[in-house]
This record gives sequence, structure tokens and C-alpha cells, in this order.
Amino acid sequence: MEKCNICEYEKLILVDFNNIFLRTESKNKNVHDYKNFICKNCGVLNQSPQMSEEQLSKYYNSDYRNTGHQLTFNEKVIDFPLKFDQTGISFQRFHYFQKIIEKTNLDIFKKNILDFGSYQGSFLYACKKFYDSYTIGYDYNDEGLKFSKNFLEIDEVFKTKDIYSDLFPKKIKICTLIHVFEHLGNPNKFLKHVHKNILEENGYIYIEVPDIQSSHYSDPTHCFTYSQDSLKYVLEKNDFEILYINNHKIFGKIDKNIPRRNFQYNLHCLAKKNLKKSFNEFPKQGYKIYIQSKKNHSKVLNKYILNKTKELLKDLVELLITICSRLINYFSSRISISFYEKIKINISKFLRNFK
Ligand SMILES: [Zn+2]
Repeated sequence: MEKCNICEYEKLILVDFNNIFLRTESKNKNVHDYKNFICKNCGVLNQSPQMSEEQLSKYYNSDYRNTGHQLTFNEKVIDFPLKFDQTGISFQRFHYFQKIIEKTNLDIFKKNILDFGSYQGSFLYACKKFYDSYTIGYDYNDEGLKFSKNFLEIDEVFKTKDIYSDLFPKKIKICTLIHVFEHLGNPNKFLKHVHKNILEENGYIYIEVPDIQSSHYSDPTHCFTYSQDSLKYVLEKNDFEILYINNHKIFGKIDKNIPRRNFQYNLHCLAKKNLKKSFNEFPKQGYKIYIQSKKNHSKVLNKYILNKTKELLKDLVELLITICSRLINYFSSRISISFYEKIKINISKFLRNFK
């Protein structure tokens, strides 16, 4: 890889760590095979080679949104227009969003909200219910858009043609990208477009992405993976001022069958148009981010093994107690009353010696 696709710096660090819970190689090499590099300057993790925009768009238009519940009859395939588990997760993403809006004292009641990659619209539905927002959905998926418009009464929906140039009839107060920003092949171009053509003068952007410290790098559609510092870099580079940035564990129900879900954190960021302070183009923060990520990835593995060992020991102790109590039960019910009386008298005598 010659240079970073975010800041064009020419020194990059090859990701050389991997473990069974947090894979760092592509999970679908047929879709896209790549290596991961962390830029020594901005610290953003780049996939190399990058998937082209055509490849990405083709992928999203094919089976990306398949529910896994399709029915096939000879040549004909039908699918249900809802991904049940994802809809619930997407709705609950509103939890941190609202906490952050409250913390930063932002007034977005009755304002325009545009959700990039809105899919079935459950996040926008929460915004509508809570803020009485004018909601605008935007996605590649026709079925998702239809569902959000017809069943969730999302005010307007638009199908993605080109995320770097598509325009909307209204200026937007706040746009949201929830697990979408990491899929963008050209975040600089996107942020410039949002800044110039989409947001109103006092507009905001809210981004939620996986945190480089505790995430796998194996999704071929994640063009970039960010840390707090590197996400801040990209936003400031494109004239956005950070109002809030932090990581949080996934809210709500966690799928226990996926071990990494227990340790995974997401980054949550709220930023405002127009950067007030000066931007440092060369923070040279990549090496620090690389070392921290490497350390955290191995910690996740250790923590998981430790937790599992603890659970196993706890189960063993419980098993021993159950066996002992059953044995005591068995023998005590078989002791004759005369033998029991003898033991009782001897114990009383023995205790009297201590008076
Ligand atoms: Zn860079």
C-alpha cells in the first residue's frame, strides 16, 4: 500500500495481530481479499486494496440485506421485508443517541433528521416518536424503504444513487450514520458533500462506528476502521467540530453466541459544522493507535479465557456441593434414632468440657 486514503501519508503499519474472536483477515475472500494497514499519521485503519465503488454498490444491491428466511421454489425466491433481530438492534441504537443529544443540550425537536443507510427505518421511527422529527430515510434497499414509508410512517424516503452527490429537497438539521460511515470508500468526499450541500448552517452529524480497539477487521465492506482520535481527525479535516466522542458497549440484548459481542465497543460521535479551532494535519498518532489496538485485541482473548475458566470452576464447585448434599441426605435418612440420640449425647458432653 502506497499511501493512506484519508490523509495521503506514505508511512503505514501492517496489522500483524489476529485471534480467534477478533479476526483481522477478510471473512469473505470471494467478495474482497485485502490486508489491513494503520496510517502512521492519522491512525485510520485502511483496507488494501480498497473495494471499488462499483463493487460495493453491486454488493449492497445483491444479497447484503437478505434476511436469511428466504423461501425458494424452483427458480422463484421470495423473502420477507423485515430482518427481525436487526430491526430491534437498530431501534435501540436510539438509546445512546438520545443520551448524547441530552448531554450536549441540543434542541432537535420537530427538526429534519436524515438517516444515511436507514434500511427499515426503526431508528428514524424512534426519532419521530421522541422528538416529533421530520424523518427522511435513505438506503439502497427498496424493500426497507417501502417498509419504513408504509408501516413506520417515515415522512420521506430516497433510494441511494450516489451517496457522494445525492441531494434532498430540504436542508437538514442533523444527519445520522449508524454503522454506515465505516462502509464509505471516500469519507473525505462524503463529509465535504454533507457540509456543503446537505446540512443547514447550524447542522450536525452523528456517527456510530465500531471501535478499532475492540472490533474485528474481517468485514470486507468496512473500508476503514476508526479510533476516537482518528475519527476526530477525519471530521476536523473536513471542517466539523467535535461536540462529543466516546465509546460505549452495545446497548440492550447481546447475542451470547458471538463471544466478541461481550467485549465489543462502538464509537459514538456528534459533531457540528464549522471547526472553530486550528486543525493539526500531522498528529502522527498512528503508532500509538496500533500498539493500543494490538494490546486490547490480546486482552479480549485473555479476558474471554479467564471468564470461561471462572464459569467452569463455578460449575464444578456447584456440582461438588450437589453431590455432597445428596450423599448427606442419603445417609442421614438411614441413621437409626438410637444412633442419632447417642451422637447427640456425646456431642453435648464434649461441649460441656469447654464451659
Ligand atoms: Zn492517514
